[in-house]
This record gives sequence, C-alpha cells and structure tokens, in this order.
Amino acid sequence: MKEYKYIFGPIPSRRMGNSLGISPIEKRSCTYSCVYCQLGRTKNLMKEPKKFFETEDILEEFRDYLKENIAMDVVTVVGEGEPTLSYDLEELIIGLKNLTEKPVAVITNGSMLVYDRVRKALKAADIVLPSLDAGNETTFKRINRPNGKINFNDVTEALVKFSKEYRGQLWMETMIVDGFNDSTDELKEIRKILDKVRYDRLYINTPVRPPAEGYVNEPSKEKLDEAIKILKGTSIQRLSSGAFFSEIKDDFEAIKSIISRHPMNKFEVKSFLESRKCKNEEEIFDKFKRDDDIEVVEYKNYSTYRLK
Ligand code: SF4
Repeated sequence: MKEYKYIFGPIPSRRMGNSLGISPIEKRSCTYSCVYCQLGRTKNLMKEPKKFFETEDILEEFRDYLKENIAMDVVTVVGEGEPTLSYDLEELIIGLKNLTEKPVAVITNGSMLVYDRVRKALKAADIVLPSLDAGNETTFKRINRPNGKINFNDVTEALVKFSKEYRGQLWMETMIVDGFNDSTDELKEIRKILDKVRYDRLYINTPVRPPAEGYVNEPSKEKLDEAIKILKGTSIQRLSSGAFFSEIKDDFEAIKSIISRHPMNKFEVKSFLESRKCKNEEEIFDKFKRDDDIEVVEYKNYSTYRLK
C-alpha cells in the first residue's frame, strides 16, 4: 500500500463535506503563529512564498490517488501551515483542476494576498477560504502573532482588492477567542473591514481543538451569539462529523498519518477504529501513550491526539 507524502484524507470538513487535503508546504511553515493554532506553535515563521516541492511530484501522487476511486467532495489545498507560501501555487491549482472535476479549494490566512502572484494563483481556485480574526493591528499581533514583516493594513487591503477581482466563491472565516476579539468594539471593527470585502459566506469558528497556547479559551455562549449577530455569520462551533479515512492498512499507523495533519479527539479515533472493525482498540490507545511522537492533549474534558 502506498503512503502519500502530499495527500491526506479525505477528512470530514465542517464546511465542505469530504475534503481531500493537498499539502504543498513543509510542516508548520506559516506567516502567523496564531495563539489558537491546532498544529501548535509555528516552527518556520515566514514572510513570503518560496519553492518547497516540485509541483509535478504532487500531481503525480494525485494521479495515483485518483486511481483508487475513493469518494471525495472537494480537493483542498491546505497544508500544515499556510499553503499560499508555496511559490508554485498557480501551477498546482491548475494542475489539480486538469485532473479532477471536483472543486479545488484553498484555505488561507490571507496574508500572502499582498503578492500579485498569490492573488493570481488563487483566482484559479473554485473556493478560497481566507481568515480574518482582527479588526486592528494590536489585536492582529496578539491573536495571529504574524511575522514582523507582515503589516495588518496591507493584509486587509489586499483581501479587499482580491475579493473584488475574484470570480469564485469566497468564504471568510473568523475565529472568536475569549478575551482576544470577542468584545463588542473588536467585533464592530472586524465588521467594518468585512463591509469592504465582497464575500459569499462568513463562518464563525471557536477554538474547539487544543490550541497552541494553553490560555486560549472559547468565548462564552453570549459572546458567541453577539459575534454571530454583529458579524452576520454562521457558526461552525461543533466538531467535524462524518468519517475519517486512511488508505494505510495498519490501524495505528493510519491514525498517526491522519493526526500528522489533523488532530483527532478520542471519540473521532474510536469511531475511526470502529469503521475499520478494529479488534484491539485498547492496545492502540496504549500505544499512543508510549509513542514519543504523539502528544496527548487534555482539552474540553477529553483527550486529543496530535503529532509533536
Ligand atoms: S491557525 Fe493557520 S494561520 Fe494560524 S498559525 Fe496555524 S496554520 Fe498558521
């Protein structure tokens, strides 16, 4: 059985159904190191796109994957970090679109929209999902902790510009974090920027998975309701539903491969093992505790597993 380097999933996505992930960057390379990041702290805090991998190698894997005929709803360029840091993004998106009729989506923090090259690349995607968590520079620095060369006004101006040029679906996302951006004033400032953006949907998220920093918490229900009202968005405040999938035969290795890209909580691991008719569930949970690569994080009263 072939193990993929750039492809993972499909993973149930709260917004897009069964999403096949394509990672065009090295692990934990990002322009931000968000306090709520589910991957932990960013290891490679970058300021501009660079070449990571050969596009042809990624497309070769995708061709192989398609031969397996596994159901998926969307192909998502996502990575473990910021995928628009990949210098060859346009070539990749066009290459993927030539190989499948499924929509190609890109999840981004939006910071690289300041580059013409990145805006041009993203225009080739069917769905672009940028995030906007702050309405001012101070909160931006507190919550997203960007690379020092990244300027808040430049990023929001680039987002507005892109939104007016782009013809595909633009789905915004705002992560609401207790004490960071959930005050009425902060929400109104975010709304002010959103008023200038031409988008199709706005999702409101909360840190449902273990965050990079232990002091990060979900907002209260009242604050979340207020955020939904002021921002005029849709809440996706619940864990993914649906089934995870892996091609890897060994149950333990399959989970390790999934959590290298997407942390799983205890219940997600259990239902994944049940779907594979696994007979030694307890043994696998024991192995998690012994494996030095795996971090078990206690969050919201249950264990979540992710790679260190
Ligand atoms: S949440 Fe996204 S933008 Fe923020 S550090 Fe993690 S990968 Fe980067």
